[in-house]
Amino acid sequence: MTNVIVIGGGLGGLSAATHLARMGCKVTLLEKNAGTGGRANLIEQDGFRFDTGPSLLNYPWVFEQLFADNGSDLHEQLELLEVEPGIRFHWPDGESLQLSSRFDRLRSEFERFDPSVGPRLSAWLERAGRNYRLSFDRLVTSNADNPLRWLGALRLNELLGLGLQRSVYGQLGTSFRSERIKQALGSYAMYLGGSPFDLPGLFEILPFGELNYGLWLPRGGIYALVEAMTRLAADNGVEIRTSCEVKRIRENGGRGRAVELADGSLLAADAIVSNVDVPTTDTLLAPEVISANGGGKRAARMAMTPGVLTFYWGLKRKVSGLGHHSIFFPQHYRESFNQLMQGHSISSEPPFYVSLASETDPSLAPEGKSTMFVLLPTPVLSRLGDVDWQAQRERLRQFVIARLRAEGSDISADDIEMERCYTPADWRDNFGLYDGSAFGASHRLLMLGPWRAQNYSRRLPGLYYTGASTTPGTGMPLVTLGGRMTAERVMQHAR
Ligand SMILES: Cc1cc2nc3c(=O)[nH]c(=O)nc-3n(C[C@H](O)[C@H](O)[C@H](O)COP(=O)(O)OP(=O)(O)OC[C@H]3O[C@@H](n4cnc5c(N)ncnc54)[C@H](O)[C@@H]3O)c2cc1C
Repeated sequence: MTNVIVIGGGLGGLSAATHLARMGCKVTLLEKNAGTGGRANLIEQDGFRFDTGPSLLNYPWVFEQLFADNGSDLHEQLELLEVEPGIRFHWPDGESLQLSSRFDRLRSEFERFDPSVGPRLSAWLERAGRNYRLSFDRLVTSNADNPLRWLGALRLNELLGLGLQRSVYGQLGTSFRSERIKQALGSYAMYLGGSPFDLPGLFEILPFGELNYGLWLPRGGIYALVEAMTRLAADNGVEIRTSCEVKRIRENGGRGRAVELADGSLLAADAIVSNVDVPTTDTLLAPEVISANGGGKRAARMAMTPGVLTFYWGLKRKVSGLGHHSIFFPQHYRESFNQLMQGHSISSEPPFYVSLASETDPSLAPEGKSTMFVLLPTPVLSRLGDVDWQAQRERLRQFVIARLRAEGSDISADDIEMERCYTPADWRDNFGLYDGSAFGASHRLLMLGPWRAQNYSRRLPGLYYTGASTTPGTGMPLVTLGGRMTAERVMQHAR
């Protein structure tokens, strides 16, 4: 029996630990915080319940598969509430566009911007659907190290059809004429912490996936999914130790590896799976990696996705004029992405995202009140330098409220009964996110598949990675799939 230590109880760590235990390993999961979930964590205060990070649950099939593969049934563990219609996008001139998983509703909405869009929308759904299936069946979940073998899983015409030669925006432009439709669908690049002008066109599969598989909220919030995944791991025999911080990954006299805990004690294992962000693992937990194989240089070279400042507002009442999920675009759409990816300061008018989860699940707030989550992207910490976060917090709160009011909401600052805020520095300190990057390593073309940080260390045998910055990438579904890929890698090497 292989003895495995998993460091970190994010979704990737929980998934890897569960699969490894199911495959017969003895698994111990060590999480530094008091609860599992990582970025998908929980704030409970004054009767309000907030998810700290993820608020959009896509691709439920991934979680159905995780539970089915490990002796359970997702739908017996969790109730999924459909959020339909989906996201509403707002522009500063008062225009808005709302997505829907119901085709007729979506087509009529798109026709307001482009009356002849119908046949092109159908053709786009077909193309993006084909690429979604090709990607998930043959590319995303393949533990391929070799670019030729990875891309060789597709025929030439399939490969050319993916749109790797164009940006997301360019690829959408082959189907849609309306700038508003392109801006709305292109903004899904933000899910990967990227810009629609930089990321490969293949990622038009993101909005397709949401439209096709729907948008969901577990009853009790996203954290109810984390709780269900934590139970699944425990039921499969994973020993979970919370409030247990790992300080170092060490050699173990030539036999496997060991981790050193905060109290100085050592725990040995045949294999270690780090769910801590890859560049944080390389630079803080395994400095041997730095000297042995240039891991420090790899961390410095790794392009990271932006940071985020997040507000959690408990509102005294239900405010009007906002649905469950909304995105607010700035006046200058393209420039705002450039500022985010290359700028050195927080924009005066950043795009932002608002979620009122208690609209769909009223149990998340006390009777008559509501929860509001606001996410504002920022450049990563190393590009921001010294920031007066208190001043930014005040400025951004005022900015968001003013914009919401301008769009017709009746919210005012007085409605905020309680507030919590995580700056990019909090995200770094709370969860080990390198450079405060919210979504991990970037998803540019040459940081995908075999070009992405692999889920095992070549120079430090016995060290594996799982989570947002390794393969296949970021987001709850991908890190959950990635957990299985890491488990398969460990077992493959153990044979
Ligand atoms: C604000 C925000 C919004 C998001 N929105 C969405 C969304 O709507 N939908 C979606 O699908 N995805 C979303 N994401 C992305 C998604 O949350 C992540 O991709 C995913 O949760 C990352 O999981 P992970 O496996 O990388 O683990 P992480 O969440 O990175 O967890 C790593 C774990 O390791 C622990 N750890 C760190 N250092 C140590 C140590 N030394 N010892 C022990 N433990 C340690 C941490 O405490 C943490 O629990 C969002 C992310 C953020 C930040």
